[in-house]
Formats: sequence, structure tokens, C-alpha cells
Amino acid sequence: MSTATVNATRITHLVGHTPWEGQAERTSEVFNPATGEVTGILDLASKELVDEVVARADVAAKEWGQTSLTKRVQVLFAFRELLNNNKERIAELITAEHGKVTSDALGEVTRGLEVAEFACGIPHLLKGGFSENVSTKVDIYSMLQPLGVVGVISPFNFPAMVPMWFVPIAVACGNAVIIKPSEKDPSAVNAVAELWKEAGLPDGVMNVVHGDKEAVDALLDNRTVKAISFVGSTPIAKYVYERGTANGKRVQALGGAKNHMLVLPDADLDLAADAAVNAGFGSAGERCMAISALVAVDSIADELVAKIKERMATLKTGDGSTGCDMGPIVTGQARDRITGYIEAGVQAGAELVVDGREAEFHGGENGFFVGPTLFDKVRTEASIYTDEIFGPVLSVVRVASYDEGLELINSSAYGNGTAIFTNDGGAARRFQNEVEVGMVGINVPIPVPMAYFSFGGWKDSLFGDSHAHGMEGVHFYTRTKAVTARWLDPSHGGLNLGFPQNA
Ligand code: NAD
Repeated sequence: MSTATVNATRITHLVGHTPWEGQAERTSEVFNPATGEVTGILDLASKELVDEVVARADVAAKEWGQTSLTKRVQVLFAFRELLNNNKERIAELITAEHGKVTSDALGEVTRGLEVAEFACGIPHLLKGGFSENVSTKVDIYSMLQPLGVVGVISPFNFPAMVPMWFVPIAVACGNAVIIKPSEKDPSAVNAVAELWKEAGLPDGVMNVVHGDKEAVDALLDNRTVKAISFVGSTPIAKYVYERGTANGKRVQALGGAKNHMLVLPDADLDLAADAAVNAGFGSAGERCMAISALVAVDSIADELVAKIKERMATLKTGDGSTGCDMGPIVTGQARDRITGYIEAGVQAGAELVVDGREAEFHGGENGFFVGPTLFDKVRTEASIYTDEIFGPVLSVVRVASYDEGLELINSSAYGNGTAIFTNDGGAARRFQNEVEVGMVGINVPIPVPMAYFSFGGWKDSLFGDSHAHGMEGVHFYTRTKAVTARWLDPSHGGLNLGFPQNA
């Protein structure tokens, strides 16, 4: 790995709208994965700094939570416009630190934008209920009130979209937010935070602390932080959920995945092959909704594998800013982990149909590249099948029937996304009912719900019971209060020590 630090810029926290001016005790390097160069030096927050930011956010939350819906919505609309106008610039920042191709980065910003658009409807979404005369001259109504300070901890693979799954809704609901982005690609979050400032969000409502475990633990332990939205790998998601809830917080912790795509004999095999390639190798497989296990019914497996191989030969891997199909892996360490899995797959006896280690790369010679890789006849005990590789490695597992395929999917520890490819409506309908996975695609390989639905998996892909965005997001960031009111008229209720009953 190159450690050249030519023109590396300092990247720091945003305490409210102000870049932090302190001296960091610890820093980490940010790479351009296409060249292997260090392009940024990131300040890592200490526990003391996190606690200081939380205290300031708490003050801001109290005022913002009392700000009228009309004024909050004006900020949200302004933010939406600014984000739309700046999406290309943010996409370039993502490509420069994450590596994904620029069109894909633009797609991610657009999906984040959709959550901001959903949050613009907050006056409608925050309406409570009202029942008149539940008892004689007694009314009940419910209100959704903000929590106060909430934390967002995000992964490297969607540096703009994942934070935007949460921040616009948390802010719209009247909370102050502290976001702790991935230390691998931190610049997109800073750029988006600048837009919140420009949109007129009051100082202190949106804060960015960069860091690693120390900053995460400080957020989890600080009792002023009322809720945590986490997205990342399963072991850390479980840890965040357990530590956060032990400290009395609401936690939604979205974890890792191993997404299966089941192809039945009656499927359109060209459509299925396109989908497998797009969903297996898009963003170099570094998507929590990537397809990494292709479950093919025996009778069509040879033909499907041949069609996938044919398509893979046309893919160009290289610098994501230069019009390639697939960019580099986020770090040299992650690249080495992926190539280690490819070797383990060979050792486990799987048939290596396309070896991404031998691909030609169009980028810097020190870039962190692995080409698209295809294994066939993968056995289910092999680590390439059991583990989330998070790289461009697609494993084909052959099954005899729909039932065998379904059983395989349902025995996975993960349950984030899945897809079925078939032209049989009855089979698709059975699948949507029987599969134990949170997000299901029917002839759609990456079934990411729109912002007004909620995103989330089952089993080890989610700890907690709230999915991201949609109405589940609104509920996650608010507490419901029910008010029972009686306005006295000239009559008097009289004494009654019994439990109130309707009359
Ligand atoms: P990660 O778990 O390494 O890191 C996620 C966040 O946790 C980062 O902000 C990181 O700084 C922090 N963190 C890392 N180690 C920690 C520790 N020991 N203690 C406390 N905090 C720690 O994940 P990643 O590599 O950045 O992202 C990839 C993973 O995220 C994959 O497993 C992917 O499936 C998952 N993911 C899931 C979803 C989903 O919706 N379920 C979406 C995107 C990514």
C-alpha cells in the first residue's frame, strides 16, 4: 500500500456550523482507493470532545424542538434544493474517497435526496390523533414529540445516502443530530452538513464528529443522547445495540448481509444474468444489498453461468472517475481480505469461473483493485458462501428445486435482501410469503424501498425493531404523548376513587 501523502488535507469535526479548531491527539489516513494515495488526514474525536458536542447539541435541541413546523419545513425545502444543486460535487467527493464510479455515487446522493423530500412532508407525518368525547365531555389526543439529541453512526459504503436515511427525518422531527461518519470516507458528510448550514438550520442542530471506537463508545455512553441509528457490520451492530440499550437508549442497528437471488427454470435468463452482474458487481460488491449468492435451479444453471461469464468479460474495472463500470475496493486491507476469500474458495473446491485477481485495471498502479469474480458449484460450508465478503465475488450455488432454494435462503443467519427471478406469479407469491428476509425483490435484484417505505432486514441484519426512514423513521425519532382533557363546564364531576371508566 502506498503511503504517499501528497497534498493531503486536514478533515475535521463540525461543532455546529464551525469547523473544530483544536489539536487532535489521534488522526487517521483517508485514501483515494483508485491511486492508493493518502489524500486526507482525519481528526479522531476524543470522549471529551464528543461529550462537549453533545452538551451543545442538547441546548440547540431544546430550541429547535420548539420551532414551528412551518419554519422547520422551510429549512428542509431549502436543504432539498441545495442538495439537488450540489449532487454532482458530492458524488465526486464520494468517488475520490470510496472509489465507486461517479454515476453510482450520484445515484446514492439521489436516493438520499428522496429521504429529504419525504421529510419535507413532516407537518402531515407528525399529525397526532384526536378523539372527541371519549367519555362525557372528555377528549383524548396524541402528540409526537422530539427525543432531544440523537446519534447517527454510519458505514463507509454509502457515505452520503446512509446518513441521509436518518438525518433529514431526525431534524424534521425536531431533534438535534450528531453524526459519526465512517473514518474511511468522511468528506461527503462534511459537505452535506455545510448545506444544512446554508439552508438555515440553526447552529448546533447538526454536528459532525469524526472518529473510531472511542467516539462511538462516547455517544453510546452519554445519557443525553436518546437514540442511536447505526449502520455497519453485524458484530459492531450487535455491540452498538447492546451497549446503547444498556444505557437506556433507543437503538436501531442495521447490520451485514448475504443476499441470495433465486433463479427458477422459467425465468428470463438474460434478465437474470444482467441482474446478477449488476447486483453482484455494482459498487464492487460493497453494498449491503449486493447479491453475493446466486441460487440457480440445476436445469438452467449451466446456461445462466455462461451468460453471466459472457457479460463479465465486458466489464471495465478502474478509477471510478474515468467512466469505468467498477471502481476499486475502499482500502488495501479490504482488497487483501477479498483476495484471501478468493483463495479460500479455490481451496474449498469451488469452480473459479472468472478470477478477478487477474483482471486488467484502468487506474493508478497502487490502486486497491480486484476484478469481478465468479465461482460456480459452491458448497454451502465454504467461507465464500457463509461469510459476507463485501467485494466483487459472486458465488453460484446449485439447487434441485424451489423448495431447496428457499430452505437455503431461510437458513442464512442474515435476512437483509433477497430476490426471485421467475415468470410464474404463483411461485413469486409463495416466495414473498415464505422467505424470511426483510426486503424482497421479484425480478428486481436490489429491492431498496423508496423513502416513504422503510428500509431494514431481519435476523442478524437488524438489531432493534425499527427500520430506517418512512413512518418507522418518524416513530423512531419521536415519543408519543397521549393527553386526556376535560374542560369543565358549570357541572362538577364529583368524588370517585375508582379507576376511571368511560361514561
Ligand atoms: P463497520 O461495522 O466496520 O463500521 C461501521 C461504523 O462503526 C463506522 O462508523 C465505524 O467507525 C464504526 N466502528 C467500527 N468498528 C467499531 C468498533 N469496534 N466499535 C465501535 N464502532 C466501530 O462497517 P463498514 O465496513 O464501514 O461498512 C460495511 C458493513 O456495513 C457491511 O457489513 C455492510 O453489509 C453493512 N451495511 C449494512 C447496511 C444495512 O442497511 N443493513 C447498509 C450499509 C452497510
